[in-house]
Amino acid sequence: MSLIHALQNKCPKCHKGQVFNTKNLLSFRPAAMQENCPHCHYNFSKEPGFYWGAMYVSYGLATLEMAVVYAICMTLGANAVDVKNLVVSILVVLILFQFNFRMARLIWLYLFTNVIES
Ligand SMILES: [Zn+2]
Repeated sequence: MSLIHALQNKCPKCHKGQVFNTKNLLSFRPAAMQENCPHCHYNFSKEPGFYWGAMYVSYGLATLEMAVVYAICMTLGANAVDVKNLVVSILVVLILFQFNFRMARLIWLYLFTNVIES
């Protein structure tokens, strides 16, 4: 799995076509995923319910982001049990919702591309 190609929204097979219609993964617009790679015609929709597993990746990303925000708050001198830390962490995760959605699907697709093909 190439995380750089996933961050660039590239096809896991040819690394040239785009998986999502938008090039900017940080866009706030709702994500639209293409059915096939425009370059190599690799099928991105493996089977019904394939992307349900991406929820686990999204959960991990959100947890990581909350931990980073919490660490930053602690570095800036916030109290360890302050509710503000939780509020700021939740706000950051909500702001990054579209990014997490796209990255979770891309990581999930990259994880299973070689497994399904072999
Ligand atoms: Zn491709």
